[in-house]
Amino acid sequence: MAGIYIHIPFCKKACVYCNFHFSTSLRLKNEMMEAIHKELQLRKAYLGENTVIETIYLGGGTPSLLSADEVNTLFDTINQYYNLASEMEVTLEANPDDLELDKIQAYRNTPINRFSIGIQSFFEEDLRFMGRAHSADQAKACLENALNSGFEQLTIDLIYGTPTLSHTHWEENLRIATGLKIPHLSCYALTVEPKTALEYQIDKGKKADVDEEDTAQQFETLLAITAEEGYEQYEISNFCRPPHYAQHNSNYWKQVPYLGIGPSAHSFDGKSRQWNIAHNPKYIEGIQKGKLESELEVLTPQDLYNEYLLTGLRTKWGVDKRRLSKLGSATQQKQFAKAIAPQLASGHASENASSYFLTPKGRLLADRLISDLFWVD
Ligand code: SF4
Repeated sequence: MAGIYIHIPFCKKACVYCNFHFSTSLRLKNEMMEAIHKELQLRKAYLGENTVIETIYLGGGTPSLLSADEVNTLFDTINQYYNLASEMEVTLEANPDDLELDKIQAYRNTPINRFSIGIQSFFEEDLRFMGRAHSADQAKACLENALNSGFEQLTIDLIYGTPTLSHTHWEENLRIATGLKIPHLSCYALTVEPKTALEYQIDKGKKADVDEEDTAQQFETLLAITAEEGYEQYEISNFCRPPHYAQHNSNYWKQVPYLGIGPSAHSFDGKSRQWNIAHNPKYIEGIQKGKLESELEVLTPQDLYNEYLLTGLRTKWGVDKRRLSKLGSATQQKQFAKAIAPQLASGHASENASSYFLTPKGRLLADRLISDLFWVD
């Protein structure tokens, strides 16, 4: 079992908070798509020839800049070189301004069966603050169009903690999303990443900074409304109406191997991580010469152990006891037992026969609790 991630590194407009790799110039789009096809061919053995691919995720950047024909051509190449499961989760990240009705209907004739839509907010002032390319009307219209076109597998991204977002509007954002019965929500607190336009604008006093208390209060509202509406918080930032868990992302958290294609994409084969160069012309030039510009890090047992804790304990499934004991040394197992004991006693963590997991109370303090459990030398 494995997944494929394909990074489409173009956006119409740069959102102020974003630190992903993308270009707002589409000049190299055709060359990029040719290079992506070629990388799919070059790396067909990365996951092992008989490995079955169960999830494919087109992320970015903005994959909804691709036409349905471009998506189908991409899948012709994937089909040629990879062993695909008969039923796959195939997700396309989309921005509302790309999802006109005719485009959504055209995507129905592709293997895409799930959209991840960057809504962020249904209010103009927040979208303007974030520098998003879409309007509040487009945010609502694309969801209605997608649902009416038969795309039942939808997830949307929402951002809270934005200085323009009042508590009433945050509640309304959640009410709109849950009212439309969107089966999966990813809700993130706005973070000011280094070297972003947002950091610069806050430093220059042109934009208000994020208020931690407002963010914490909005997180509480998020937990309350999603619970009331029948959503399960199965990862710190991810909520769904069961059984609509995001398979691709859940597999990342469970350390299932994946192949990352395109500039800046990361890959994981169970033993090492590899990341492609985050530079469109250099990526294309390398691939044209038959060489992938990338770096590789072989993971130590300690890396694998700590990564498993970090991602696993953020989910409702927690970490598997057998896997933990396979990854850690005998000394580490003793250290772990000692470190988790107070968390079990205080009700921040819990266990059953097969796993350890954080309780909802523990997930509020996840970063600190998990780092207390790390394998340290
Ligand atoms: S559309 Fe997405 S990838 Fe592109 S700039 Fe905005 S947040 Fe970043």
